Amino acid sequence: MHRILQAVVVAALAAWLAPGAAAGEAAEATPDWVIVVHGGAGAVTPGSYTPEDESGMRSDLGLAVDAAVRILSEGGSSLDAVSEAVRLLEDSPHFNAGRGAVFTAEGENELDASIMLGRSGAAGAVAGVQGVRNPILAARAVMERSPHVMLSGEGAEAFARAQGLEFMPLEWFHTERRRRALEAAQQQAALGNVAPVRGTVGAVALDMRGELAAATSTGGMTNKRWGRIGDSPIIGAGTWADAGCAVSSTGWGEYYIRAVAAYDICARLNYLGEPLDVAARQVVMERIPAMGGDGGVIALSADGAISMPFNTEGMARGFARSDGTLSVALFADE
Ligand code: ASP
Repeated sequence: MHRILQAVVVAALAAWLAPGAAAGEAAEATPDWVIVVHGGAGAVTPGSYTPEDESGMRSDLGLAVDAAVRILSEGGSSLDAVSEAVRLLEDSPHFNAGRGAVFTAEGENELDASIMLGRSGAAGAVAGVQGVRNPILAARAVMERSPHVMLSGEGAEAFARAQGLEFMPLEWFHTERRRRALEAAQQQAALGNVAPVRGTVGAVALDMRGELAAATSTGGMTNKRWGRIGDSPIIGAGTWADAGCAVSSTGWGEYYIRAVAAYDICARLNYLGEPLDVAARQVVMERIPAMGGDGGVIALSADGAISMPFNTEGMARGFARSDGTLSVALFADE
């Protein structure tokens, strides 16, 4: 199945990839469009996944990139590109968002998501929702069809239902891998160790009109207390977009909230004039580790530059640009 999916992705990407184009992170001229996705930072090391999981992660990252490429290359919006990429990653059981989300201490899934549009600063978020198949669509509905920015818990679920969004039985979100991770985390917790097992998915995009957007979705941290909210649904921490810069974070949420990580990167770029990569590295590699946290981000500026720093062992990530550059990677040395 995954081999077939991978072949489809490779064929689809090859259709627009310029011959001889190489993957790279710095755009020379502003490209028409860019999509960057992530599937979470953390203990992403060779051997930490079964071959099936590893190829599933690569394949599903590729499918998310490919879906966004189709939208952006046909003149679609960065908002549609990031919400579709994140929706697909939520449906993938390989990532900690939507189906395949990590478990709370009680063995449930409580899901967080947010989305933001660059020029207008419009934003929407949901926190601690259950049963909503695609929390990112609920976050987008909050942004587009309510006067609010964030809804939580049962209120967010009632809103999603009223908007006609799809609900799934709670078991649909469960995976055996996350069940084992919960057991391992609870054994560690009994020994007094807090091992922040987690992950998240996210996307940032630039469209042909020069509009930036960012989206993030997560199950949070394995063995979290019920009611715990991480950085992912918090505008400025897990997600930020303005006219010049867009960021989606993945990392130890308590630190990303306290660092206002996504906003801080864009503020450095906007107010200090720091290049995107300098700003992103300053926050991810200096500020957050100095506080005791870890993780990574994907960041994109209006000139098409991409930065994807992480201070963990790896970060699932991928990007494609209208100049033909593209990449999907999991490990640090890729
Ligand atoms: N930031 C997420 C949270 O703390 C987890 C992650 O990205 O790894 O909820």
